[in-house]
Amino acid sequence: MIFGSIRRGTRVSVDNERCEIFGFCEMEAPSTFKIGPDGKLRIRRMVDRDGLDQAISAARLCPKQAIRVKGEGAYDDE
Ligand code: SF4
Repeated sequence: MIFGSIRRGTRVSVDNERCEIFGFCEMEAPSTFKIGPDGKLRIRRMVDRDGLDQAISAARLCPKQAIRVKGEGAYDDE
């Protein structure tokens, strides 16, 4: 199974208008972000707890501020 415990409401997205494929996100959160052989960024939209922490870190590092993590505070079901 790919995901351990998916938290409802926690989603990762990237603004393609801003992203310039620098790849910092892939280095910081390789389970969530991957630059494919075609040079396009692929993302895993739903993340588990470990993936979430990495995705938040990637969002902070992204030089274009292109990453959004929604529901990052919703660790427990509401
Ligand atoms: S770090 Fe930001 S700009 Fe770079 S590939 Fe990831 S989302 Fe795109």
